[in-house]
Parts: sequence; C-alpha cells; structure tokens
Amino acid sequence: MKIGIIGAGLGGLLSGAILSKEHSITIYEKLPFVGGRFTNIPYKGFQLTTGALHMIPHGNEGYLAQTLRRAGSNVKIVNSEPDGYFRINGKNHEYKDIFGLVSAKDKLKALKLAASLKLGKIDKNMPFGEFLEDIPLALDVGNSFSGWALSLNAYDTPMSEIIEISKLYHKFGGPGIPVGGCKGVIDSLVEIINKNGGKIYTSHAIEKIEVEENNVFLDSEQFDIVISNASPKLTEKMSNIKFIEKEPVPSKGIKINVASKLSLVDGASVIFTTDCERINGLNQPSNVDRSLAKEDYNLIMLHATQIKNNTKEEISLALNDIESLFGGKDYEVISIQSYGNGWPVNHASNGTDLNPIVKDNLLLVGDGVKGVGGIEVEGVAMSVIAVLNHIEK
Ligand code: FAD
Repeated sequence: MKIGIIGAGLGGLLSGAILSKEHSITIYEKLPFVGGRFTNIPYKGFQLTTGALHMIPHGNEGYLAQTLRRAGSNVKIVNSEPDGYFRINGKNHEYKDIFGLVSAKDKLKALKLAASLKLGKIDKNMPFGEFLEDIPLALDVGNSFSGWALSLNAYDTPMSEIIEISKLYHKFGGPGIPVGGCKGVIDSLVEIINKNGGKIYTSHAIEKIEVEENNVFLDSEQFDIVISNASPKLTEKMSNIKFIEKEPVPSKGIKINVASKLSLVDGASVIFTTDCERINGLNQPSNVDRSLAKEDYNLIMLHATQIKNNTKEEISLALNDIESLFGGKDYEVISIQSYGNGWPVNHASNGTDLNPIVKDNLLLVGDGVKGVGGIEVEGVAMSVIAVLNHIEK
C-alpha cells in the first residue's frame, strides 16, 4: 500500500518505521527537523530537548520499548532503580515507605480508600484530587505524580486514568532513560525508515487532506491510507471531513534545565517533589548518558505543570521552588522552556483523548489519541499499536 504520514514526531516515525517494512511510506514534516517534541536541542554543551525530559514512562518493558523493538530499533533504555523517590519535607523516600509516614488516623483512611478501589466502589469520573483529599500527604504525592507524568493537577486527572495507569505500572514497571536521550530513539527510527526505502521530507507542510472513498489526497499526492501525527484539531482543520465531537484539552507545562557540578539525583530515577509549590519533579538524565551534559557537569531537568495562564508568574514560582531545592548548592539555570497551545505537553490531556481511527483510510497517531492510561510517549505508542492493528485487520 502507499501510505502518507503527516508529521515526523515520535508517532509518525514509529508508525513509519514499522509500516516501511511492507509498504511504501512517505513522511512530510513541516519543520526543518524531525522528532517533534521528542528530540534533542544542543545548547551550551548540554543536550536539552524540544519537549520531553529524556524519559520513557515504563522504561524498557513498556509499550514504547516493545514497539521500538518491533520496528527493529536497537536503542538502549536504562531502567530506573528504584522507580522514583518522593521528596517529603526535604527528605527523599521510596514509594513503599510513604505509608509509614502518615498518622494512624490517616493510615485507616488510606486503607479504606485502597479497599474501595480494589472493590471497584468508586466513581471512575471522580477527580484523583478529590479521591485523595482527606489525606493531605496522599494529595501532595498524587499531585506531584500527576503533575510530572501527565502535566495535570490531581483535580484535573480523572480516576479512570489513574486506575489504568496503575495497572500498566504493575505490568511494566517504572521509567527509564534512552541512551542518547530522546534523539537516540528518533535517530534509530529514521535509520530504519531510510534502510527500508521510506521517504522523509522536512520543511514540507501539508495543507490539505482530501478523503475520498478509496483514496486520500495530501495536497495533490494520492495515497491509499493517510496517518496524521499532527494534532486531531490541526488534522480536522486540514481535512474535508469533520470528526471532533468534543475538543481535547491540551496540558501545559514549564521545563527548567539546570547545570550542576555536584550530582543532585541518583541513577535514572525521578524525584517527585511533593513539598514544592509548582515544581512536580526532577531527574538527572546525564547519569545514564554522560554525553547529555557538558564535561564535569550534570544536567538536571525539572518540570512544573502550568496552573495559571500567567506564564511569567508561573516561572517565577517554579524558580522559587528551585532555590528552595538547591539553595546553597552550586547550580545554574541554563534555560527555561514553556509549553502551551500549539506545542503543549500533551495535545489531549489524559481523559480527553480522541479515537485514533477516523476512517479506514484516515488514521491518527500521537498524544491527542493516546489509549486510556497511556502516559505521554507510552500513550503515543498505544496509538501507533491501535493504528497498526486497524491496518492489519
Ligand atoms: P509531535 O512530537 O508534536 O509530532 C508531530 C509532528 O507533526 C511535529 O513535528 C509537527 O511539526 C508535525 N506537523 C504538524 N502539522 C503538520 C503539517 N501540517 N504538515 C507536516 N507536519 C506537521 N513524554 C514522555 O514520555 N516522557 C517525558 O519525559 C516527557 N516530558 C515532557 C516534558 C515537556 C515539557 C513536554 C512538552 C512534553 C513531554 N513529554 C514527555 C511528552 C512527549 O514529548 C510527547 O507526548 C510526544 O513527543 C508527542 O509526540 P507526537 O508524535 O504525538 O507529536
């Protein structure tokens, strides 16, 4: 089949790499570079990124890792050990130790909540924050987790997502970091597509999608199937059909990159900062791959969910948090990046994703069409799996 792909983000390249084994693939990318929000930006000797924190939510066992292997990618993903730490009142604790920190009264409440979850006795549409709010420490932990993993406040995260996320966590485990960072993943996919004879055109924006019964036209080029890695909203805007009933809500965030000679984080783990006002968590990806930081330095990446529209104010609150985290240590903020409307953390925040199958010959991949419980690039991989299953059917 002749397949056209709009966008060379992770979703477009991942589907392109697998489909190029058996089909004729052409990928069009409007920007001069490939990888979308999942590639590196070299800056002052550090490998910063266009979006992601160099992190794969379920590491070497999750859907993305499995789909990369299916494509033939040999990128190495180093799993976190332990999965993460929670910083509570200035001290780091593993998740399993948090229960020991709450009062006897709150332990009882926590056991009741766990039982209601296990027995399925909760409203799945209830916000995660509401579920946790009777136990202040649990709410802080939940907020830092959903802020880091989904770029959502716990009150904006539906329990249905949290339930599926925890099932996937138990199945696959915690996060990992790819060697080479985000670009390590992207380079491996581009190599496969090139080897299989697929074509990738950069600086080539698609303007019009014309869906017919048996063909789809991208501008004037005819295809059997089109896969769009542009957001659902942009895809609908370009196409001659309407398919969005309820608009997805994007999630916004702020990423701050810090350089330090002193190592501030162990291994490939995340530190969830429950005791910060805006910063949800941080990692130190240069622990996995030294080439991500300038010689003798560590690269620390911190993430904050954007809560209010005033970006300047949000940045200032996040910088205050950083001073409370590292004050007195020798550190330098090397860049601040904010992510909103056209270039958000997720085109659809968890719980607002659309269906990837628009028509048999118009399919969507990416973070606007993640599966339920799909955290960021794991959700992108889930959308690619759904599209591949549909094509193979
Ligand atoms: P994109 O990367 O946006 O790719 C879509 C591509 O389509 C773009 O390159 C775009 O230019 C192109 N395009 C759009 N319209 C057209 C057109 N008309 N013609 C041609 N091309 C077009 N995820 C994680 O798993 N781990 C993390 O640590 C993590 N941290 C994050 C931190 C931040 C601050 C941000 C912003 C995101 C983070 N994410 C993380 C999310 C992750 O980066 C995204 O989910 C993922 O990169 C989205 O990939 P995608 O393929 O869906 O979209």
